[in-house]
Amino acid sequence: MNTIARKIMAMAIAVSFCFGLASCSNASKGSKLNTVASGKLTMATNATFPPYEYHEGDKIVGIDAEIAKAIADKLGLELVIEDVAFDSIIAGVQSGKYDIGCAGMTVTEDRLKSVNFSTSYATGIQSIIVKEDSPIKTVDDLLKGDYKVGVQSGTTGDIYMSDTDGGVGEDRIDRYNNGNDAVVALSSGKVDAVCIDNEPAKAYVAANQGLKILESPYTEEKYAIAVSKSNEALLAEINKALDELTKDGTIAKIIEKYIPTK
Ligand code: GLN
Repeated sequence: MNTIARKIMAMAIAVSFCFGLASCSNASKGSKLNTVASGKLTMATNATFPPYEYHEGDKIVGIDAEIAKAIADKLGLELVIEDVAFDSIIAGVQSGKYDIGCAGMTVTEDRLKSVNFSTSYATGIQSIIVKEDSPIKTVDDLLKGDYKVGVQSGTTGDIYMSDTDGGVGEDRIDRYNNGNDAVVALSSGKVDAVCIDNEPAKAYVAANQGLKILESPYTEEKYAIAVSKSNEALLAEINKALDELTKDGTIAKIIEKYIPTK
């Protein structure tokens, strides 16, 4: 073997050794982390929340699914996604059934009593969907009239709307298991409006004829990942991974893929 060939060979060995080390160090990091199933990151979500999480064939895809996968890769863990009712996610994370709740989940004071939240990775806005020919033109019309509002059970839309202070109050709320069921109820006239986050609202309006979103949005919120209060180590690793994925542009790229601005 001549000198050049020997150098190339030495470089190739060095490069593959480095790659080996990198994946090795990720994997060993993963095995040190205390998770629900060893070597796995078990994520609870509700996959009726496009473009954050939804079904594509037999797969769950979307912004949260991709961000969680990128975090799991950094942590050397295999991502496992469980599709459950939205209002069972916090309790499941708290009781140690799931490692994380990643579901376009808004950080609220009340939820912070039960779980920790990672740094926020996206913003959401509560929107109101009505029928195109609805007499409801503004949020104010909705609050003042005697209208029924459909919400997804346990969401911030449910919490705000159920309150008589700023919402319509319990008596005028119809709760549904998921956003899709609430929108179906609106289309069939069972409710007069649906209060839901702006991105799923856009997706539902695009997929169902005769609906529109009120121009005045209801309220702005921050999405983050819920982690058990008894797993501070996992929270720290998730925040570190999120920070790296933000700095190298991965998060922005994933969001742009599902919510194109160009
Ligand atoms: N952002 C809302 C909440 O946290 C709705 C989330 C959802 O429906 N997946 O309550």
